[in-house]
Amino acid sequence: MDKYDVVIVGTGPAGMGATFSLLENRPGTSILMIDKAPVSTGGMRNDCKMNFTYPIGFPFEYWPEDVANHYLEKVKEFLKPDILPKSNIEVYQTRAEKLGCSLLEIQQTHLGTDGGLRLIQQLMKRLTDSGVDISLKEEMLSINNEQKFITTDLREIGYKTILIAPGRHGFHFLQSVMHQLGVKYMDNILDVGIRVETRIERYPIVKDYYDPKFYFPEKVRTFCTNSGNAHVVKEKYITERGDVWYSVNGHAYAPDAAKNNGLVNFAILKTVRFTEPLASGQEFAEHLGVMAALMGGGRPLMQRVGDFRMGKRSKAASFNGDLYDFEPSLRDCCPSDISLAMPSKILRYIWSGMKKLDTIIPGILHPSTIMYYPEIKLYANKPEYKDEHFQVAADVFFAGDGAGTSRGITGAWASGIRASEGMMESLN
Ligand SMILES: Cc1cc2nc3c(=O)[nH]c(=O)nc-3n(C[C@H](O)[C@H](O)[C@H](O)COP(=O)(O)OP(=O)(O)OC[C@H]3O[C@@H](n4cnc5c(N)ncnc54)[C@H](O)[C@@H]3O)c2cc1C
Repeated sequence: MDKYDVVIVGTGPAGMGATFSLLENRPGTSILMIDKAPVSTGGMRNDCKMNFTYPIGFPFEYWPEDVANHYLEKVKEFLKPDILPKSNIEVYQTRAEKLGCSLLEIQQTHLGTDGGLRLIQQLMKRLTDSGVDISLKEEMLSINNEQKFITTDLREIGYKTILIAPGRHGFHFLQSVMHQLGVKYMDNILDVGIRVETRIERYPIVKDYYDPKFYFPEKVRTFCTNSGNAHVVKEKYITERGDVWYSVNGHAYAPDAAKNNGLVNFAILKTVRFTEPLASGQEFAEHLGVMAALMGGGRPLMQRVGDFRMGKRSKAASFNGDLYDFEPSLRDCCPSDISLAMPSKILRYIWSGMKKLDTIIPGILHPSTIMYYPEIKLYANKPEYKDEHFQVAADVFFAGDGAGTSRGITGAWASGIRASEGMMESLN
């Protein structure tokens, strides 16, 4: 059996943060990173905009401000971001405050989907040059923590300590690991909403602030804004029963005036926290996703704001007529009526948020604007952590978005560093 001091599962930012921290602070440690994909699949690969201001990306329950800032500094020192300039922020902030909303001023950088891939390749080279073994296209299947080994689709691998950071897509897998380790957990929250796509001139704030973070009442917020060469995409999910559904998402390529498609997209999400008797928020989310797929003939749904306001289903013609002056960037989507698929309470709050946003920045409620549904962010059930380093069982650590310790690249990277400190204690 191959044996390492440290095994890191997942080459996303959480796995990277932990590995670089171990290299720096414990040289000589033998480290193996595995990933089931040929290249890290998360946000570093898609759009790669990074936020460097608390609380973006840091769930409050794990990250008091001083702790988050301590780790954010380390992330910044390592990644050396070129922070994007912003302008006219006070104007938007004043308008937002009049409506009981707020606009957070966040330090951001944006590499784009192509720039993100270049960053991943550079980081991977640095890791292999430093002696880290990296095995791509290898999937962890199970863990035996008494005998300290994991089983992958290729082999068994021994470890002294292990970090499991499989991202949001890995939430079913993380759940099975928690069962195998006997880790107690509780149900987690969900983010459910839509993705809005419109012309840049109808949401011109993006010229002043790349990814503006508006907070509306009732835990509704804007999230993940992309502009320039921006595209809406769909992500495939499969339930444990084998049902397929899609969540939409968005990304943009690195700025390049020649390739600008003139569009902007962003999510408006509502955070939902369930209590008894609902046993699993994820299952609820999956039902929403499956319901949307059922209505869309296996595709996500899209509706023009003009049709939505008239209470009409969008049809193919809604995406061709002269009023509807731009093509959806995600074509493989079903013209539909999202209000038939979305719980009314969530839709009501999101629509209220959109009206407020249209008052702050008039334009997004233009009839041509497209609302894509569903955009759902799933997190694993919240494990009971044994310490502040996200240890779930002796020598086993979780980090990143899947484990609920972060919600973005920088938070995931920070959670990896924090976990690595616990792993070093395990090794000593
Ligand atoms: C389309 C898209 C765009 C996004 N854009 C942004 C953005 O611009 N900015 C931002 O901050 N965040 C963005 N995000 C969110 C971002 O992806 C996450 O916050 C971040 O990547 C979480 O890091 P992570 O290390 O926890 O997981 P991930 O980055 O998802 O990495 C987890 C890795 O684990 C691997 N894996 C999973 N299960 C196994 C297994 N069993 N065995 C082996 N390997 C496994 C996966 O293949 C994956 O590479 C985006 C997400 C998506 C999907």
